[in-house]
Amino acid sequence: MIYQHRWLDGRPIHLPAGKAVCVGRNYAAHARELGNEVPESPILFIKSRNALVDLERPLMWPADAGACHFETEIALLIGASLHDVTPAAAAAAITGIGLALDLTLRDLQNELKTAGHPWERAKAFDGACPVSRFAPPPRGRDFSALGLRAVVNGEVRQRGNSGQMLFAIPELLAYMSHWFTLEPGDIVLTGTPEGVGPLHSGDELKLELDGVAGFATRVAG
Ligand code: ZN
Repeated sequence: MIYQHRWLDGRPIHLPAGKAVCVGRNYAAHARELGNEVPESPILFIKSRNALVDLERPLMWPADAGACHFETEIALLIGASLHDVTPAAAAAAITGIGLALDLTLRDLQNELKTAGHPWERAKAFDGACPVSRFAPPPRGRDFSALGLRAVVNGEVRQRGNSGQMLFAIPELLAYMSHWFTLEPGDIVLTGTPEGVGPLHSGDELKLELDGVAGFATRVAG
């Protein structure tokens, strides 16, 4: 089934499904939980549009690749073309806010990192980016206090707030746009707070964007 951006009420958003530009280690506590250094500049990677799937469909990943971790992240839908723009221009181009899972084949990622290889197969495989429906940007386009929560099988596993990000949303987008032009319909994943972990067949996930919306999904099987 072809992925389509949608508003919370299910209406389609008239933007194409583009790429997802993502950042690693944007919350200090998550960098530490995986034994990584806190970076001095954003660590960027890209998932192609074939990675985008509707969050509410059962989650799936290649079966032959070891553990698959959930990473719950605030997702931003981009509504204009951004190339090397200022933080203010980047913030003005955000059409929607939602949540996404940066599904990560952790065993494979660790293998690739150890070998000094790119980690694309671990994070950018088809279906690696389940995306929620989108809400309009917050009042005053203030992206500095967006809270998120991930509940797995009734247990709160992740809690975070955009105020804890190492690189704030407008600055992060501006930095991304210096390297990768952001196009209408692209999304940006803003990094995950601590609490990531492996998914198992039948797990039930509830992902909440505080005061905005909640989304439910489950692992296939
Ligand atoms: Zn991530």
